[in-house]
Amino acid sequence: MSYALFPDDVLFFQRILRADGLYAGNLDGQWGPKTERAAKEFEKLAEEIRIKTRTYDIRSERSLSTLCLKAQKEARLFLGRVIDGGLNVRIISGTRTYAEQNALYKKGRFGNPGPVVTNARGGFSNHNFGIAWDIGIFTPSGGYKADGPEYEKAAQKGLSPEIEWGGNWKKLVDKPHYQLRQHFQIAELRSRFEEGNPFILPA
Ligand SMILES: [Zn+2]
Repeated sequence: MSYALFPDDVLFFQRILRADGLYAGNLDGQWGPKTERAAKEFEKLAEEIRIKTRTYDIRSERSLSTLCLKAQKEARLFLGRVIDGGLNVRIISGTRTYAEQNALYKKGRFGNPGPVVTNARGGFSNHNFGIAWDIGIFTPSGGYKADGPEYEKAAQKGLSPEIEWGGNWKKLVDKPHYQLRQHFQIAELRSRFEEGNPFILPA
Protein backbone atom coordinates (compact mmCIF):
# COMPACT_ATOMS: atom_id res chain seq x y z
CA MET A 1 0.00 0.00 0.00
CA SER A 2 1.99 2.93 -1.24
CA TYR A 3 -0.61 5.36 0.05
CA ALA A 4 0.16 4.47 3.67
CA LEU A 5 3.25 6.61 4.14
CA PHE A 6 1.77 10.12 4.17
CA PRO A 7 -1.93 9.40 3.59
CA ASP A 8 -3.18 12.86 4.55
CA ASP A 9 -0.71 14.76 2.47
CA VAL A 10 -0.22 13.67 -1.13
CA LEU A 11 1.57 16.91 -2.01
CA PHE A 12 4.11 16.30 0.72
CA PHE A 13 4.71 12.75 -0.51
CA GLN A 14 5.11 14.03 -4.08
CA ARG A 15 7.82 16.39 -2.86
CA ILE A 16 9.63 13.52 -1.11
CA LEU A 17 9.39 11.45 -4.31
CA ARG A 18 10.68 14.39 -6.34
CA ALA A 19 13.60 14.84 -3.95
CA ASP A 20 14.52 11.22 -4.62
CA GLY A 21 14.37 11.83 -8.37
CA LEU A 22 11.43 9.43 -8.80
CA TYR A 23 8.61 11.81 -9.69
CA ALA A 24 8.59 14.24 -12.61
CA GLY A 25 4.86 14.97 -12.58
CA ASN A 26 3.10 18.03 -11.22
CA LEU A 27 3.34 18.84 -7.53
CA ASP A 28 -0.44 19.13 -7.32
CA GLY A 29 -1.48 16.95 -4.38
CA GLN A 30 -3.49 14.67 -6.69
CA TRP A 31 -2.90 10.92 -6.43
CA GLY A 32 -2.69 9.88 -10.08
CA PRO A 33 -0.85 7.17 -12.07
CA LYS A 34 2.48 9.05 -12.02
CA THR A 35 2.38 9.37 -8.25
CA GLU A 36 1.37 5.72 -7.93
CA ARG A 37 4.28 4.60 -10.12
CA ALA A 38 6.77 6.75 -8.23
CA ALA A 39 5.45 5.51 -4.87
CA LYS A 40 5.86 1.88 -5.97
CA GLU A 41 9.40 2.59 -7.15
CA PHE A 42 10.15 4.32 -3.84
CA GLU A 43 8.97 1.23 -1.93
CA LYS A 44 10.95 -1.11 -4.14
CA LEU A 45 14.18 0.84 -3.75
CA ALA A 46 13.65 1.23 0.01
CA GLU A 47 13.22 -2.54 0.26
CA GLU A 48 16.46 -3.09 -1.67
CA ILE A 49 18.28 -0.81 0.76
CA ARG A 50 16.80 -2.70 3.72
CA ILE A 51 17.88 -6.06 2.31
CA LYS A 52 21.41 -4.79 1.63
CA THR A 53 21.75 -3.47 5.19
CA ARG A 54 19.59 -5.08 7.90
CA THR A 55 16.17 -5.03 9.51
CA TYR A 56 15.65 -3.22 12.82
CA ASP A 57 12.94 -2.94 15.47
CA ILE A 58 9.46 -1.81 14.39
CA ARG A 59 9.78 1.76 15.62
CA SER A 60 13.09 2.28 13.83
CA GLU A 61 11.71 0.70 10.66
CA ARG A 62 8.64 2.94 10.75
CA SER A 63 10.83 6.06 11.18
CA LEU A 64 13.29 4.94 8.50
CA SER A 65 10.49 4.37 5.98
CA THR A 66 9.61 8.10 6.06
CA LEU A 67 13.08 9.25 4.97
CA CYS A 68 14.36 10.03 1.50
CA LEU A 69 16.20 7.05 0.06
CA LYS A 70 19.72 8.39 0.58
CA ALA A 71 18.84 9.18 4.18
CA GLN A 72 17.36 5.68 4.59
CA LYS A 73 20.62 4.16 3.47
CA GLU A 74 22.84 6.38 5.62
CA ALA A 75 20.57 6.07 8.68
CA ARG A 76 20.48 2.27 8.38
CA LEU A 77 24.26 2.05 8.16
CA PHE A 78 24.55 4.54 11.04
CA LEU A 79 22.18 2.50 13.23
CA GLY A 80 24.12 -0.68 12.52
CA ARG A 81 27.39 0.92 13.61
CA VAL A 82 25.86 2.25 16.83
CA ILE A 83 24.24 -1.09 17.71
CA ASP A 84 27.48 -2.94 16.93
CA GLY A 85 29.14 -0.43 19.28
CA GLY A 86 27.11 -1.94 22.10
CA LEU A 87 24.32 0.62 22.50
CA ASN A 88 20.63 -0.11 22.81
CA VAL A 89 19.40 2.48 20.35
CA ARG A 90 16.39 3.05 18.11
CA ILE A 91 15.43 5.66 15.57
CA ILE A 92 12.39 7.21 17.20
CA SER A 93 11.56 9.93 14.71
CA GLY A 94 12.00 10.57 11.00
CA THR A 95 10.16 12.80 8.58
CA ARG A 96 7.26 14.99 9.69
CA THR A 97 4.81 16.65 7.31
CA TYR A 98 4.29 20.39 7.80
CA ALA A 99 0.96 19.60 9.50
CA GLU A 100 2.62 17.15 11.88
CA GLN A 101 5.33 19.70 12.62
CA ASN A 102 2.71 22.39 13.34
CA ALA A 103 0.88 20.04 15.70
CA LEU A 104 4.15 19.41 17.53
CA TYR A 105 4.88 23.14 17.67
CA LYS A 106 1.59 23.76 19.46
CA LYS A 107 2.57 21.47 22.35
CA GLY A 108 3.23 23.64 25.40
CA ARG A 109 2.09 26.77 23.53
CA PHE A 110 -1.20 28.63 23.05
CA GLY A 111 -2.57 27.14 26.28
CA ASN A 112 -1.90 23.54 25.21
CA PRO A 113 -0.36 21.08 27.68
CA GLY A 114 3.45 21.03 27.64
CA PRO A 115 6.33 20.67 27.59
CA VAL A 116 7.54 22.65 24.56
CA VAL A 117 9.25 20.10 22.29
CA THR A 118 10.29 22.11 19.24
CA ASN A 119 11.02 25.67 18.21
CA ALA A 120 10.23 24.97 14.58
CA ARG A 121 6.92 25.47 12.79
CA GLY A 122 6.02 23.44 9.71
CA GLY A 123 8.62 24.01 6.98
CA PHE A 124 11.23 25.22 9.47
CA SER A 125 12.59 21.89 10.74
CA ASN A 126 15.09 19.67 8.96
CA HIS A 127 12.62 16.87 9.73
CA ASN A 128 10.26 18.37 7.13
CA PHE A 129 12.44 17.47 4.12
CA GLY A 130 13.12 13.75 4.53
CA ILE A 131 16.74 14.11 5.57
CA ALA A 132 16.71 14.00 9.39
CA TRP A 133 16.22 11.42 12.13
CA ASP A 134 16.33 11.33 15.92
CA ILE A 135 17.62 8.49 18.04
CA GLY A 136 16.56 7.30 21.47
CA ILE A 137 18.74 5.38 23.89
CA PHE A 138 16.98 2.59 25.78
CA THR A 139 17.89 0.62 28.91
CA PRO A 140 18.16 -3.19 28.67
CA SER A 141 14.59 -3.41 30.05
CA GLY A 142 13.33 -1.07 27.33
CA GLY A 143 13.12 2.20 29.29
CA TYR A 144 13.73 5.40 27.32
CA LYS A 145 16.69 7.57 28.36
CA ALA A 146 16.23 11.14 27.19
CA ASP A 147 19.88 11.99 27.85
CA GLY A 148 23.15 10.55 29.15
CA PRO A 149 26.69 9.88 27.95
CA GLU A 150 25.37 7.23 25.55
CA TYR A 151 24.34 10.02 23.18
CA GLU A 152 27.98 11.09 22.74
CA LYS A 153 29.01 7.47 22.40
CA ALA A 154 26.38 6.95 19.69
CA ALA A 155 27.87 9.82 17.70
CA GLN A 156 31.40 8.43 18.14
CA LYS A 157 30.33 5.05 16.84
CA GLY A 158 27.85 6.08 14.20
CA LEU A 159 28.94 9.25 12.44
CA SER A 160 30.24 9.19 8.88
CA PRO A 161 31.25 11.94 6.43
CA GLU A 162 27.71 11.79 5.00
CA ILE A 163 26.06 12.60 8.32
CA GLU A 164 25.79 15.74 10.43
CA TRP A 165 25.15 15.51 14.21
CA GLY A 166 22.98 17.98 16.12
CA GLY A 167 25.33 17.55 19.08
CA ASN A 168 27.91 19.60 17.16
CA TRP A 169 25.58 22.53 16.58
CA LYS A 170 26.55 25.78 18.24
CA LYS A 171 23.20 27.53 18.64
CA LEU A 172 20.90 24.77 19.78
CA VAL A 173 22.70 21.57 20.75
CA ASP A 174 20.48 18.62 19.80
CA LYS A 175 22.21 15.36 20.72
CA PRO A 176 19.54 12.89 19.53
CA HIS A 177 19.43 14.56 16.09
CA TYR A 178 21.19 13.44 12.90
CA GLN A 179 20.74 14.42 9.29
CA LEU A 180 22.26 14.08 5.87
CA ARG A 181 25.05 16.57 5.48
CA GLN A 182 24.11 19.03 2.77
CA HIS A 183 24.89 22.48 1.51
CA PHE A 184 21.74 24.47 2.09
CA GLN A 185 20.43 26.53 4.96
CA ILE A 186 16.87 25.87 6.01
CA ALA A 187 15.20 28.62 3.94
CA GLU A 188 16.90 27.40 0.76
CA LEU A 189 16.10 23.79 1.62
CA ARG A 190 12.44 24.69 2.11
CA SER A 191 12.12 26.50 -1.20
CA ARG A 192 13.86 23.68 -3.06
CA PHE A 193 11.68 21.07 -1.38
CA GLU A 194 8.48 23.00 -2.12
CA GLU A 195 9.37 23.84 -5.71
CA GLY A 196 10.70 20.37 -6.48
CA ASN A 197 14.31 21.40 -7.10
CA PRO A 198 17.13 19.05 -6.09
CA PHE A 199 18.73 19.43 -2.67
CA ILE A 200 20.09 15.99 -1.83
CA LEU A 201 23.71 15.65 -2.83
CA PRO A 202 24.60 12.58 -4.86
CA ALA A 203 26.24 9.74 -2.92
ZN1 LIG B 1 15.73 16.01 15.21
